[in-house]
Amino acid sequence: MITSNLVEKAEEINRTKLGKFNKTYKGTKVGIMGGTFDPIHSAHLATAEFIRDKYKLDKIIFIPSGNPPHKKNTIVNKYDRYEMVKLATMSNENFIVSDMEIIRDKRTYTIDTLRDMKKKYDSIDIYFITGADAICDIETWKSVEENFRLATFIAATRPGISKASTKEKINDLRKKYSANIIEVYVPSLDISSTYIREKLKNNGSIRYLVPEEVREYIEYKKLYNNGD
Ligand code: ATP
Ligand code: MG
Repeated sequence: MITSNLVEKAEEINRTKLGKFNKTYKGTKVGIMGGTFDPIHSAHLATAEFIRDKYKLDKIIFIPSGNPPHKKNTIVNKYDRYEMVKLATMSNENFIVSDMEIIRDKRTYTIDTLRDMKKKYDSIDIYFITGADAICDIETWKSVEENFRLATFIAATRPGISKASTKEKINDLRKKYSANIIEVYVPSLDISSTYIREKLKNNGSIRYLVPEEVREYIEYKKLYNNGD
């Protein structure tokens, strides 16, 4: 069973990884994986690892969103979502979690995060990782063009999202914004946080769909517990 010790340990491990990164970031290739992570699941992790390996990225920084504009009501509060991301990544030296969106009071936009990253970590190459659904939506994001100037986007295939229309959208974006977008075929895992939340609502099993520590945290904190 999860204990508050494990949560503290996850925090400590992450702090150490972040501290190391703060000293060694210069000239590195960094993937950013943003999301609501409500909750984080195995497809997020497998996608991030696949891309890290394929493009030889030095680190992946997971940035759970604080108050995302496109999701009016995240189910679980941002601190629990942040804890779960730390628990999910604690055993991977190359995965780091940032609280930069969690600590922001205002609505959190990717553009502010990219600007902050560039300011804090000069001379890194940023690869912003999204699923196909997110890249297709990107024109609804704040400051679309500047997002593309600050990072290379890596669009991962996602089950349920048409490959043909994603390709077309990406070509459009390339033309319209001179966007740097790489399409990548990722071995599919048809998992979403919505699916996990639904399973939990119906008292179904989510074992192996999320890391064990995340499953235990959900149980321990009685998150998504829709008994009422
Ligand atoms: P929800 O169902 O609540 O929208 P989600 O599973 O889509 O949750 P998010 O936190 O919205 O998770 O997504 C964060 C990022 O991870 C997005 O870029 C999304 O496209 C990507 N992503 C999520 N699930 C997958 C998956 N199964 N395959 C590839 N990419 C994914
Ligand atoms: Mg989503």
